[in-house]
Amino acid sequence: GRKIKVKNPVVELDGDEQTRIIWQMIKDRLILPFLDVDLKYYDLGIEYRDQTNDQVTIDAAEAIKKYSVGVKCATITPDEARVKEFGLKQMWLSPNGTIRNILGGTVFREPIVIPAIPRLVPGWEKPIIIGRHAHGDQYKAKDYVAKEEGTLEMVFKPKNGGPEERIHVFDYKNGGGVAMAMYNTDESIRGFAHASFKLALDRGYPLYMSTKNTILKKYDGRFKDIFQEIYEAEYKKEFEAKGLWYEHRLIDDMVAQMIKSTGGFVMALKNYDGDVQSDIVAQGYGSLGLMTSVLITPDGKTFESEAAHGTVTRHYREHQKGKETSTNPIASIFAWTRGLIQRGKLDDTPEVVAFAEALEKACIDAVDKDGIMTKDLALAQGKTDRSAWVNTAQYFDAVERRLKSALESKL
Ligand code: NAD
Repeated sequence: GRKIKVKNPVVELDGDEQTRIIWQMIKDRLILPFLDVDLKYYDLGIEYRDQTNDQVTIDAAEAIKKYSVGVKCATITPDEARVKEFGLKQMWLSPNGTIRNILGGTVFREPIVIPAIPRLVPGWEKPIIIGRHAHGDQYKAKDYVAKEEGTLEMVFKPKNGGPEERIHVFDYKNGGGVAMAMYNTDESIRGFAHASFKLALDRGYPLYMSTKNTILKKYDGRFKDIFQEIYEAEYKKEFEAKGLWYEHRLIDDMVAQMIKSTGGFVMALKNYDGDVQSDIVAQGYGSLGLMTSVLITPDGKTFESEAAHGTVTRHYREHQKGKETSTNPIASIFAWTRGLIQRGKLDDTPEVVAFAEALEKACIDAVDKDGIMTKDLALAQGKTDRSAWVNTAQYFDAVERRLKSALESKL
């Protein structure tokens, strides 16, 4: 049949090991046969990163800036063992960190819910999407050990030469103790707010922002006020038109409500809360092979998506030995579909959005309706018999079959 035309380019970031193999299969079997798309290809495989002194990662980030949409395969973040394994010139930084530093923006993690796959928290029938404010707070704090009696103060010196402000914090008496000063900026909190409102509108879910503002009245109060101001000035109308809402929640109320909920909302969390809660939520949904992650900038235009898992090294070692593998490609496929949906929305090409949604449905229905799944999902169902799962290629067969019949029935 005729291919669907994608108006503007998509930036493709290739990666490593088992996910690199899966990435190629996705492209060959589920994308290129159906779409006429200009892919701007960047090879972020560890060998080429080393060869280019990591310039390829920077170039890829610049390309995402230019074309707005990037899809990324999982990549190795080198440690000492990897430096040895690949004879690397140096221990290159995490590509995700490099890209995030260049693009800015917020990372949101979203689980893919498949009804037939049980979750550790069974009530979570819809996704809980977590956005973590990955800037400042404890992660850029100065902490300090006071070894003797003394007084702790904070001092603020205005740049314009105005009088210093001294805030008395504590008098250490019987021996010393510990102290910490941390900060954030209005600019970064605003960017976080915009990215969160845009993502919630995009996904059609309400947004909750959580802090401990009853205790940190000024610090967390500032987060609360900035979100509220921006919501009322710029987003409230659009939220209400879609039947959605934004509310601030105390973090302890939020986590209690989260556990009892059926999902279906976005949580915007401060840096430390986001760090802790995103792992709790990931465990609650179960499979790493069903967790996606998107990076979105405050203007809502620049968008990068990827699977939240790594390169699945253990399966790659089996593959290298010529053994069969059963690796779940769903989160990697969703890296492509979420990127394509964003591309289709920016280009105003609903046929591209519809294709991506059909591909997502094919992935879910292959598991949910046909009972065809990879080993990780079969194990999540408590099935340990070899007949309960298929190998990686056979799962692709099932998705391809469903995708083709869905596309044909639309013609
Ligand atoms: P991993 O996510 O690759 O694997 C963790 C565990 O989950 C393993 O037991 C694995 O078998 C299982 N698993 C993960 N995804 C799966 C899937 N799709 N199907 C079936 N099982 C799956 O993490 P790791 O082993 O800690 O790291 C491997 C490599 O990945 C490392 O080099 C690390 O630097 C890299 N990494 C990259 C990213 C990224 O690019 N975003 C994220 C995490 C780790």
